[in-house]
Amino acid sequence: MKHSMPYYVSILKKALKDPISKSEALTLFKKIQSYDKLLELFKVAGKVRDDEVGRKIKLMGFIASITPCTVDPPCRYCFRWSNSKLFTSDDVLSDEELEVAVKTLEAKGLKRAELGGGTYLGEEGRKATFHKLTIACKASGKVGIWINNGPSFRPEDVYKLKEIGVEGVACNFETISEEKYRKLRPGLSLEVRKKIVEETDRAGLDIDNTLMIGLGEGWDEQHPYDEWVDFLFYFSKFRNLRIMEIHPFRPIRNSPCQNMPPGSEFETVKAIAIARLIYRRVDISGAQSILGLLAGANLIMHVYPITKSFRAWGRHPLYHSRVEKLHKDLVIVNNLFEVTRNAREMGFEVEL
Ligand code: SF4
Repeated sequence: MKHSMPYYVSILKKALKDPISKSEALTLFKKIQSYDKLLELFKVAGKVRDDEVGRKIKLMGFIASITPCTVDPPCRYCFRWSNSKLFTSDDVLSDEELEVAVKTLEAKGLKRAELGGGTYLGEEGRKATFHKLTIACKASGKVGIWINNGPSFRPEDVYKLKEIGVEGVACNFETISEEKYRKLRPGLSLEVRKKIVEETDRAGLDIDNTLMIGLGEGWDEQHPYDEWVDFLFYFSKFRNLRIMEIHPFRPIRNSPCQNMPPGSEFETVKAIAIARLIYRRVDISGAQSILGLLAGANLIMHVYPITKSFRAWGRHPLYHSRVEKLHKDLVIVNNLFEVTRNAREMGFEVEL
């Protein structure tokens, strides 16, 4: 007797050769609900990564902050609630420190670095962003500079960013639900972020964006698979999508979201694998963990984070990551060993 193949299996089979559709992605989110099925999904997503981008892991450095955050009220899940110094002027690197930071990453051999900062609204924010980016781009010809400081500039400013020499723009949505956005980021607008991403694509700059799994979900709610699929496919219209990041929501202590459930790790790795079946050649973050590697990730973010000493961000929960002083109050977390270890031990080629 002939048994027909379950629908999710036929989607996975087809996905080995072709990108999946929106409805197929939704089916996978709904149907992959067990250990065995997750392994089946991983097998295909890993194979697609190997075939399309190879077993090669890219690294992204991190420097923060380049701008303070003036969003009022702060986003309801922001780190600012747990540490009042974060994204204030105390957190912002001086011009000299920024130059040292970029040159340090260049000397380490990194090919790209994300400059993080808060959303500095208004004219002041635009000026500060242009100024800091000019310093960073001049400091190194070899490190591609990516900016991630929210809408600290207008959509049309991306042409100016291009002129300055920026490689890519991360203007993260984290959720594509207008309602969640309004509730959780009342001082900001999703519409403005969408315009920045659209203009970034038009300008020919690279795009990075982040989906936060579990953001705004209640303890008893079903996962919003439709919303995650809408997020993932929103970016399919952009030629210059280069990086997709998928992280679980973390309920930050002392924030209005502190009692909300943390994002599911299972759903996060499922989303990474499903993203790989959609965006075959896009760099997908998460390659520092074994689960991320199994799910088809090929990029490690936040390598060698450089910040003011009070922040020393990016230390590993298990290893005693080395924090080294670079210049005045500037430190680097030497996390290369721990963030690349899994990939190396699993036989991947790591960019450095
Ligand atoms: S824009 Fe970023 S730094 Fe500013 S409040 Fe929102 S999450 Fe925090």
